[in-house]
Amino acid sequence: MDTSGCIFCRIANGQIGAAKVFEDKDVVAFLDIAPVSDGHCLVVPKGHYPTLDQCPPEALARIGQVAVAVARAAIAVTGADGYNLLCNNGRAAGQVIAHAHVHVIPRRLNDGLFDKWPSYQYPAGLIEQLAGKIRQKVKDDLD
Ligand code: 5GP
Ligand code: ZN
Repeated sequence: MDTSGCIFCRIANGQIGAAKVFEDKDVVAFLDIAPVSDGHCLVVPKGHYPTLDQCPPEALARIGQVAVAVARAAIAVTGADGYNLLCNNGRAAGQVIAHAHVHVIPRRLNDGLFDKWPSYQYPAGLIEQLAGKIRQKVKDDLD
């Protein structure tokens, strides 16, 4: 696959700069260039996987481990009260860079970020129906 146009591949291989906070052979983490809060970081596998579900299990495990370490560090440094781990997968979900990444977003009480949470109630029976179908797919995936 030609990934030469992928900005996160270019950051991962050092072709373009970033304010890195962690790097090993599999994962790089750096400050988001257009943050939604101070200390907002991105945790990125070095391999070019378009979405998180396409990452192999070892990469996923390392991304998760690095993401929580970065979250702890960003909280300690910024004095934030909490954090979100956010991962946009697919254009419909707001993904702009088609190379998997996890946002680590330090949060402060009443900072107003993501205040809109458009929840609703399931009609009768749908929650059990969906749970059953999804349960089977998850089992097939993990078996
Ligand atoms: P998403 O694809 O999940 O919507 O978000 C991509 C994120 O990457 C955005 O928050 C954006 O600010 C960040 N971003 C895009 N280009 C660059 C870049 O060249 N350097 C850095 N550090 N962040 C970037
Ligand atoms: Zn890439």
